[in-house]
Amino acid sequence: MARIGFIGVGNMGGPMVRNLIRAGHSLKVFDLSEEAVNFAVQSGARAASSVRQAAGGVEVVVTMLPVGANVREVFLNDGVLAAAAAGTLLMDASTIDVESAQAVHAAAEEAGFEMLDAPVSGGVPGAEAGTLTFMCGGSAGTFAKAKPILEGMGQNIVHCGGPGMGQVTKICNNMIAGVTTLAVSEALVMGEKLGVDRQILYDVISTSTGRSHIFNNACPMPGPLPCAASSNGFKPGFAAKLMLKDMRLSQAAAQSAATATPLGAVATAAFAMHIENGHGELDSTSIIKLIKPDVS
Ligand code: NAD
Repeated sequence: MARIGFIGVGNMGGPMVRNLIRAGHSLKVFDLSEEAVNFAVQSGARAASSVRQAAGGVEVVVTMLPVGANVREVFLNDGVLAAAAAGTLLMDASTIDVESAQAVHAAAEEAGFEMLDAPVSGGVPGAEAGTLTFMCGGSAGTFAKAKPILEGMGQNIVHCGGPGMGQVTKICNNMIAGVTTLAVSEALVMGEKLGVDRQILYDVISTSTGRSHIFNNACPMPGPLPCAASSNGFKPGFAAKLMLKDMRLSQAAAQSAATATPLGAVATAAFAMHIENGHGELDSTSIIKLIKPDVS
């Protein structure tokens, strides 16, 4: 069992820490939020008073932070790379831009560390249940070392390629999710306006060629799926502002690869308008309000 330093114990990191403790590891945690640290301590972790303290004297460091700037800040300058002991295995599970992921990989390698980018899919429920999918970028050898640790937090653990390729896989997935959420919302509003009951639309399309994970399991129209965020005041779930973050990451990546993503571009603009309308804290399926503002 490993000694693990975990930095960033928010909505996702908190339950991930709890599962690592359940798996028998010993955890030291740091977060800028005292409340987040306290939650992790209640699960059995020890509190560290700084990034450096969390990263020192452990065998593995895991980070779960909001954006690329946070990850650069925590690893570079006077952070994890300066404090970790030789041989510490580094993993970043945040969803960040490919450029930041690769910059931190390069700095880690230069400092003599093995590193993996390991963003996740599955959201807070997956983090709580320990069923996350990890999309990993780094060398095959590093992946093999990290896998037993990741198995304490997830079920589907995939080596996607070299440094940054976990992030590439993650944003491809989330660009599809963003585009699909908008497409599904358009169709459901249109169908109802033309006179078909929303439950009938759901029952038919969820078993026809228009079905998808979003349509079937996160239906943006309130009602047909009682467990969906849409049927519960659009309480997240996966917040619209995080979807916009990921859509923007996809567009930055598309630009750097000189590849066309016309639907991704439209969906990114739609989420930007939706957030501008004040709905960033609602679940991402609330994008249906852009099509029908008074949907209920
Ligand atoms: P969160 O805001 O709940 O947690 C992030 C934590 O990082 C916060 O507690 C914050 O205080 C802490 N933090 C920020 N900067 C720090 C620093 N310099 N030092 C120490 N702590 C710092 O966010 P989250 O929902 O847990 O998401 C984390 C990452 O996981 C994001 O990149 C997000 O896109 C990704 N993700 C989230 C979900 C989801 O459903 N929430 C799903 C998949 C992936």
